[in-house]
Amino acid sequence: MSKNNPTDLNIRPRILYQVAKAAWEGQLFEQREKICQLIQSEFKDRTTRKFVANQIRIAMGLAATESEDVINEYDEEALMGMGSEPAVIANTESCRNCKDPACEKACPLSAITRDELGRPSIDQRKCSNEGYCLACEFGTLAEKSQFIPLINLLKQNTHKVYASVAPAFAGQFGAEVTAGKLRSALLKLGFSEMVETALYADLITIKEAFEYNEHVKEAQDFLITSCCCPIWIKLIENKFPDLVGHISPSVSPMIASGRVIKEFEPDAKVVFIGPCVAKKSEAQLPDLRGAIDFVLTFQELEAIFEAANVNPADGPDEENPVASWGGRLYARTGGVSAAVGTTLEKLIPRRAEKFNPIKVDGIPDCTKLLEDIRAGKLEANFIEGMACKGGCVGGPGRLIPPDQGTSHVNDYGNLSSARTPVENPQVYSILAKLGHYRDMPAMTGTSKMAAILARKLEPNPGSKQ
Ligand code: SF4
Repeated sequence: MSKNNPTDLNIRPRILYQVAKAAWEGQLFEQREKICQLIQSEFKDRTTRKFVANQIRIAMGLAATESEDVINEYDEEALMGMGSEPAVIANTESCRNCKDPACEKACPLSAITRDELGRPSIDQRKCSNEGYCLACEFGTLAEKSQFIPLINLLKQNTHKVYASVAPAFAGQFGAEVTAGKLRSALLKLGFSEMVETALYADLITIKEAFEYNEHVKEAQDFLITSCCCPIWIKLIENKFPDLVGHISPSVSPMIASGRVIKEFEPDAKVVFIGPCVAKKSEAQLPDLRGAIDFVLTFQELEAIFEAANVNPADGPDEENPVASWGGRLYARTGGVSAAVGTTLEKLIPRRAEKFNPIKVDGIPDCTKLLEDIRAGKLEANFIEGMACKGGCVGGPGRLIPPDQGTSHVNDYGNLSSARTPVENPQVYSILAKLGHYRDMPAMTGTSKMAAILARKLEPNPGSKQ
């Protein structure tokens, strides 16, 4: 986990580490100039003062500017917030005008355009902030971080701060870092508690099973799921508005975790930690805002661990209440379908027989499947789409290759003593706290839990059919 040898590193993790370290030591304003000079000297053949200043600004959650200053007098307020949209921005000073640009090639939505000098800019009407363009090794495209206000929050100790950790964490910080070890490391950083986002995926799985029961009654009916992937949903809203009515009206497990925690503790803060850059935008959507206070990628968390000198492999293995096998599998392609299918067998077995899922990942394949649906070529009745190849284990904020991530997630799922949420005592504990003591509430009607997990989706105005 070392980030301290600049010769074999790209600039972004190096800057994240330096900024996180200075923030952790309460010296960010005092150290900003020193960090800028240090990074510039380390990468002198690859960069300019203005580029480094802007990379530091982006790591602090600020926009790039035309100035060479790291911070100006207008920035102080912005530094305390969640970070403004867009989450992914261009810092063109470092652009090498590549003949075969990685950023353009990586963007499946053709959102990167070039100016007369060949420098990239992002067409924000097309961009979905999924972060594939961060593939540029010179750091020309970069994602704003939210860890400065988070570090302040952890150090102030004024609120309970929950870490909601995506199941894709398995293996990301080393094969030996279990959920219990990661929890110990997060508590050491100052978090009050770590919860598995997968436990809240369990709640969503039950809701999806009931939604399927309600919406898929005839041979031509189908339900579009994967409410966990904001890019999949955005793709449908923007390019396939005629299909929006088929999307299950559910929030993502990330939003569910924030809403449920705050239902019981309204003053708590909730930080989502995962491999996804797009979650930074999802957390700020007008109808979802307020559930999640900050979003960190695994790469950003790794920088904070290093800055605070915390090694997650070293801590005690003290696990908290756990999620089911199905909830943990949301991290990889096919996981949602597997979770909903097995849950349907338990909850409404007669409806499980006709359950016919199809799964797809990567934006080009997602687009192709949606076109097939529109053309009436669909043979399935439960559609799962994930924007990243392999699912969330392939998210741009990951630390290990997607195939390794999938293998760790499968092992992590198999460790659970509950195969479905129906067998998970933690699910009943949450339901009981909301007053659902006896039967499983349908979650599609007017129950309290149904209201917490509900989302109303509309096609985007101006979207094209
Ligand atoms: Fe985010 Fe990719 Fe997972 Fe979608 S598949 S939620 S874009 S990490």
